[in-house]
Amino acid sequence: MLDWSDPGPAPLPALETNPAPAADPTGLGDIDRAGGRVSVDEKRMINCRADVNQLLPLKYKWAWEKYLAACNNHWMPTEVSMQADIALWKSRDGLTQDERHAIKRNLGFFAASESLVANNIVLAIYRHLTNPECRQYLLRQAFEEAVHTHTFQYIVESLGLDEGELFNMYREVPSITDKAAWALKHTQSLDDPEFRTGTQAADQRFLRDLVAFYVVFEGMWFYTGFAQILSLGRRNKMVGIAEQYQYILRDESIHLNFGIDVINQIRAENPDLWTTAFQDEVRGMLRDAAELEAAYGRDTMPRGFLGLNAVLCEQYMRFIANRRCAQLGLVPVFAETENPFPWMSEAMDLKKEKNFFETRVIEYQNGGALAWD
Ligand code: MN
Ligand code: FE
Repeated sequence: MLDWSDPGPAPLPALETNPAPAADPTGLGDIDRAGGRVSVDEKRMINCRADVNQLLPLKYKWAWEKYLAACNNHWMPTEVSMQADIALWKSRDGLTQDERHAIKRNLGFFAASESLVANNIVLAIYRHLTNPECRQYLLRQAFEEAVHTHTFQYIVESLGLDEGELFNMYREVPSITDKAAWALKHTQSLDDPEFRTGTQAADQRFLRDLVAFYVVFEGMWFYTGFAQILSLGRRNKMVGIAEQYQYILRDESIHLNFGIDVINQIRAENPDLWTTAFQDEVRGMLRDAAELEAAYGRDTMPRGFLGLNAVLCEQYMRFIANRRCAQLGLVPVFAETENPFPWMSEAMDLKKEKNFFETRVIEYQNGGALAWD
C-alpha cells in the first residue's frame, strides 16, 4: 500500500488552463461512431482530443524515427559470450576487492532499476501520454527494459552470483535505496486512480515524473553506471558485461533523447507549465540527483581504482547534469565542468567502436532478408 501522507513534491495550486480533457485519453473508451476523422492538428502530447487508437496520420516524426532506430538496434544479452568474464570472476587475483565491490553494487543498482523504469513506463507514463506515435515508442522501450532486466539475470546466472544479494540491493544498500526512493515518489504521485492531467498542477506533476525517470534515472544515474563498467572494459576486464553495457547504453541514449523530446514538446504545446518557478524546481531535481549519485559513488568506490574514483564520478555527474539542463533549455546547475571521461562519447558510437572490445556485433535480419529454403 502506498502511503499518501507523503504528498511528494509540493504541488502548485491548480489552475484550469487547459481545455477540458477529452472524454477518453486512454483509448479504451466507447468507440465514437459519429466522430470525424483524425487530423494532425488535433494530435497532442497530453490531454489529447483526437482518437489515440490511430497511429496515422503521423504528427511527431521524431517519435516514429526513434521507434524505427530502436528496432534497428535489436540485441539479446545471451548473444554475448561470458567466458572471459567467468574466468576472470573465478580467478584468485584477476580483480581487486575494490573492483569486485564496485561491480556487484553496479549490477545491483541496474538489476532493480530496469524494472522500476519499465513499471513507470507501463503503469504511469503510457496512460497519460495521449499520442499514438509516442505510445508506439513506449511499447518498444518497455520491451527493451525487459531485455535489460534479462541481461542482469543472465549475468547473475553466468557468474554464479548471489541473486538474492543483487536483486535486493535496491532495498538493502542505502545509497541505492535513496536513489530508487527519490524517483519512486514521482511515479507514486501519478498512481492515484483518480489522477488526471488537464490542470497546471497535474500536468506539472506528470512532467516531474518524466524528468525523474527519463532525465535523472536513465539520463544521469545510468551514465555513471555505464562509465564504471566501460572503464573496466577498457582495461580488458569483464569484457562480456562491458559489451552488454554498450548495447544498453545505445538503447538508453535513445530513451533519454525520447524523454527530452517529449518534455520539450509538452513545453511547446503548454507554455504555461514551464514557469520560472517550475524551471527552478527541475534544476533542483537535477542538483539533488547529482548529490545522490555522489553518495552512491563514495559507497561503490570507497578507495577507487585505476582510472575511476568517487571524485571523478561526481565530476562526471555534474558535467552530465549541465548537459541535461542545456537539452531542456535550463540554466546550468553547476559551474562549468570538464568531462573527466571523454572516452564515454566514443563508447556511445557502437558502429565506430564495434571492434573496441574485439567482440562481434550481431546484424539482425528482417523477414524479407531471411532465406526460407
Ligand atoms: Mn534500460
Ligand atoms: Fe531505459
